[in-house]
Amino acid sequence: MLEVNEIFGPTIQGEGKRVGNPSVFVRFGKCNMQCSGFEVEYETPSGIKKYSCDSYYASDSAFKDSWDSYESSKPLIEKINLILPKYKVDIVITGGEPLLYWNDVEFQKFLHFYISHDYEITIETNASINIELTHEWQKKILFSMSVKLSNSGEVLSKRINKDTLKKIINFNKESYLKFVVSKDSIKKANEEIDYILEDLPPCDVYIMPLGDTAELIDNNSLEVIEFAIQKGYKYSDRLHIRVWNNKRGV
Ligand code: SF4
Repeated sequence: MLEVNEIFGPTIQGEGKRVGNPSVFVRFGKCNMQCSGFEVEYETPSGIKKYSCDSYYASDSAFKDSWDSYESSKPLIEKINLILPKYKVDIVITGGEPLLYWNDVEFQKFLHFYISHDYEITIETNASINIELTHEWQKKILFSMSVKLSNSGEVLSKRINKDTLKKIINFNKESYLKFVVSKDSIKKANEEIDYILEDLPPCDVYIMPLGDTAELIDNNSLEVIEFAIQKGYKYSDRLHIRVWNNKRGV
């Protein structure tokens, strides 16, 4: 069963390697982490106060009743078709954690449909789940791996899966890592990123400023850019937040 929190677009990809590309986003529900360290406070439908990331409505199964369930990929593709413009857009698969659906045959059919129709597919993932990459066509998937640092509040053994990182990087050379860093956590982030990269094959590394408002992004960006330059990483802004302040559905 595919559980989808929201489908929206066309809009632009706001971060990472394909920033600025017109894109349609498909946000899957469920996550294997909570990331309470990101300190976004929210209330579940039953009134429980919790902390998580700014996508809590997709990561926390307490919001499941507001998600759409699809037994097969066909009606999901039909629904996406309703908002596809006449020109080609990127299809960005995000979450929650979309790789929780990787072993679902309907998820694979869904990916294959867009790859076989020449769409650029990006999967935004925390890359902590074991997956098998077995089909040649899967090499066309761009994995945007947002590996969580200790500021997420998750334990190391849960957030870092070097087997999966190596597997994805070796399978798809364009796939890349991205890390969210605040100006106050640069020293610690530097050590943690060094540890993560230590025995990985080479790949692009993007550093992004922490913040779910334009003001917070502004507050962190200069120091984060300087850190990226010092280390030879790429800087990724968070354009959608600058423009829309993390408003949903744009
Ligand atoms: S892994 Fe990503 S979607 Fe899941 S809780 Fe953490 S930040 Fe949110």
